[in-house]
Amino acid sequence: MDSEQLREYGHQMVDFIADYYKNIENFPVLSQVEPGYLRKLLPDAAPNQPESLQNVLDDVQSKILPGVTHWQSPNFYAYYPSNSSVAGFLGEMLSAAINMVGFSWITSPAATELEMIVLDWLGKLLKLPQEFLSPGHGGGVIQGTASEAVLVVLLAARDKTLRRVGKSALGKLVVYGSDQTHSALQKACQIGGIHPENCRLLKTDSSTNYALPPEIVSEAISHDISIGLIPFFLCGTVGTTSSATVDPLYSLGKIAKSNDMWFHVDAAYAGSACICPEYRKYLDGVEEADSFNMNAHKWFLTNFDCSTLWVKDRNALIQSLSTNPEFLKNKASQANLVVDYKDWQIPLGRRFRSLKLWMVLRLYGVENLQHYLRNHIELAKYFEECVGQDSRFEVVAPRLFALVCFRLLPPVGDNEVCRSNKLNQVLLEAVNSTGKLFISHTALSGMYTLRFAVGAPLTERRHIAAAWKVLQDEASTLLGTPLQ
Ligand code: PLP
Repeated sequence: MDSEQLREYGHQMVDFIADYYKNIENFPVLSQVEPGYLRKLLPDAAPNQPESLQNVLDDVQSKILPGVTHWQSPNFYAYYPSNSSVAGFLGEMLSAAINMVGFSWITSPAATELEMIVLDWLGKLLKLPQEFLSPGHGGGVIQGTASEAVLVVLLAARDKTLRRVGKSALGKLVVYGSDQTHSALQKACQIGGIHPENCRLLKTDSSTNYALPPEIVSEAISHDISIGLIPFFLCGTVGTTSSATVDPLYSLGKIAKSNDMWFHVDAAYAGSACICPEYRKYLDGVEEADSFNMNAHKWFLTNFDCSTLWVKDRNALIQSLSTNPEFLKNKASQANLVVDYKDWQIPLGRRFRSLKLWMVLRLYGVENLQHYLRNHIELAKYFEECVGQDSRFEVVAPRLFALVCFRLLPPVGDNEVCRSNKLNQVLLEAVNSTGKLFISHTALSGMYTLRFAVGAPLTERRHIAAAWKVLQDEASTLLGTPLQ
């Protein structure tokens, strides 16, 4: 490492990145390239001799950026956001600079200790029950993604149950979620050796706004017990992926408890909003949970990846995931004086991810973060009002946070679902191919539904107004009708 070269190249890179952000609105939000475009533009083999940074940056500009979908564009409304911020960015830089591999406390005590402290800070901001904080039997840990979070707690729950009922019962274990639960739960079941038929994704519908009715969970559990199966894991969601609905945590948690099951709460997207007192109600019932997860890398100004997971019983995780090879043994670990996060996650190695979350919390402060979240919710309300004022469209699910689910109605007299779905699919493709904004879709009750998720840090009201105009214009072209 030549620190003077780093200084020179680093300045050049920061200039490049600052210009990227400055000009980000000039790029088509959704990359418009064809599959395989890059192979045609790059050589077949790595260079034998070093090239200049300028050459590489020129290629980034002309060959890589056209193939980038610009998640940080203010006109990005697809999926859920993935925030970048100055503080998050600086934290990433520092983490890259230190570049330690913090699997055990001894490999960089500050990395483990800062992670524990910052997760306690965030846990307190979310008003999580005391049991989730590190002074007790629980604590927080940063995972890469919500998928890893649900996997590790599912493994912990599985093993805890098998210790009770015997290892041979693996094939009888059953997991419950809803048809709105993120597919990460299914993947966790696949990896965790849960029989594919024993992952129950219980049906929801518009009558509960796609939330999981507790009675349906109770019935499914009773039925499974009556045929000799063993329910062991229930996943509730705060802010589902399709429509940001909230499952009834309290009732689900009570059901889980009375059946000796692990209750996991996935608040990957909407958890962030719950640092605002007026949205904290959506976490009511979290006291019944065994684990809780929120992606700070979605809507909390913390660059990807930073998925915060809290558990009440850290030993359950450790019992499933711990290994203790000779080459990792050290005094502090052997004496049980420290947390070794390698035992709370799948990989051994881990980055210093708490730095960026710490910097976000310190450089912005709670009040600014609350303001940031509220502003997006206000912008989403504004978009919802726009949709509501155009009779050709309808909002199809209640908006709780900053996601609006809507669709273009078919022409009067045409109620055929297939045609209506096609109409919305064509509208989505037309809008996205303008490059002026990027929205995504889902299916709700078999209906092709458009999703408009406000959450990019640079989005302002003028961007929403412009996006809505594009949607209206494309709808007019499609329907062959003028604006109403
Ligand atoms: N859970 C919910 C509710 C989500 O919306 C998502 C992604 O959008 C996930 C889990 C998966 O997140 P990750 O990519 O961090 O695994």
